[in-house]
Amino acid sequence: AAEGERDTAPPARVAERFTRFDAHPGYQQIAMMREGARRLGLTDPFFKVHEGNAGATSVIGGRECLNFASYNYLGFSGDPRVNRAACDAVAHYGTSVSASRVVAGERPVHRQLERALADAYRAEDAVAFVSGHATNVSTLGYLLGPKDLVLHDEYIHNSALVGAQLSGARRIAFPHNDSEALDALLIRHRHRFERVLIVIEGLYSMDGDVPELPRFIEIKQRHQAWLMVDEAHSFGVLGGHGLGLREHFQVDSEAVDIWMGTLSKSLAACGGYIAGCQALVETLRYLAPGFLYSVGLPAQVAAPALEALTLMQREPDRVARLHEISRYFLERARALGLDTGHSIGTAVVPIIVGNSALAARLSHALLEHGINVQPILHPAVPEKSARLRFFLGCDHTRQQIDTTLHTLMEELEGSSTPR
Ligand code: PMP
Repeated sequence: AAEGERDTAPPARVAERFTRFDAHPGYQQIAMMREGARRLGLTDPFFKVHEGNAGATSVIGGRECLNFASYNYLGFSGDPRVNRAACDAVAHYGTSVSASRVVAGERPVHRQLERALADAYRAEDAVAFVSGHATNVSTLGYLLGPKDLVLHDEYIHNSALVGAQLSGARRIAFPHNDSEALDALLIRHRHRFERVLIVIEGLYSMDGDVPELPRFIEIKQRHQAWLMVDEAHSFGVLGGHGLGLREHFQVDSEAVDIWMGTLSKSLAACGGYIAGCQALVETLRYLAPGFLYSVGLPAQVAAPALEALTLMQREPDRVARLHEISRYFLERARALGLDTGHSIGTAVVPIIVGNSALAARLSHALLEHGINVQPILHPAVPEKSARLRFFLGCDHTRQQIDTTLHTLMEELEGSSTPR
């Protein structure tokens, strides 16, 4: 009888907005942004097509532009030796490993890459995932549970936030780089939880600033918490040999429990990794869902990452050039009275212009002059800190920077007079 009733009962009434994708809040937000850009006479600043390799220069819309929007910090994407490593891997292994590494996807290059990453961190082992985002989601999501606590910098990347949410752990943000506030949270909350994980980044990609690592280590040790450092933007960038925040502050590798990084930036490939002690890495290798239930890195992605990592250590001059050119950009920008926020002048330098419309207009105008730089708009940052974000690479030249800052100053002066 119950079956019969269900067949004849009228279907529930559902408001149309719950059945249409164009009524989804996300779509509404995009539509609003497009309308704002249209009213300002600007094109959508997103999804610009780069028609070749994106290095210090890049072809956009058929025209060679100066490029400050890519993470090719050490110039390895496009390096003939790195390209060759990818081509050789395809010739040998084909284009897919066709299974999770746990079952049939394991190839020699996977462990070679992981061994080299572990050595770079002086860690016991490392494991590489197919994406940086998936690395954080899977690692946090798997390691922690509802009785645990994640304390993270308020500016932490979305992937760590999503991982923390997935884990079901309690999650509390502390003010950016504020180790005292973190200490206070631990004093208050540590005893109520089992595992506690503190998550910070090695180099924050919106501001180009770094955490005071020794202070975070002292705090995590005192409270018996784990510390995880996301080195997406600091590996290949910080330290005399590009070995990251560890080298920058000269700390022992084991002082940080979980080193995380990406293969997509300095290492010119795609993917992410965790480096740390053998028990941590082995747990993830056998059980982290984004590793266990996902295909292994294609060999033609693992091989160029390994080649870039090898070359990075053989050619420390690249890191030195990156440091020199970033510092030059920071100093010139400051001398011109531009607001570079808290950037330490290594690879990432924001120029804070104070509102989203101006940031979008400047980015649009610079592109018309053949200079590609991404605007960062509200709500990605608070409205008053809307900015242009410059990513520097070792192949940028002083002349390119002079041209860029000169053009930016002209546009800023033009935009302060009514048109
Ligand atoms: N962590 C941080 C700090 C990032 O900035 C990013 C992406 N830019 C990721 C993780 C995700 O890495 P991927 O893009 O390699 O997936």
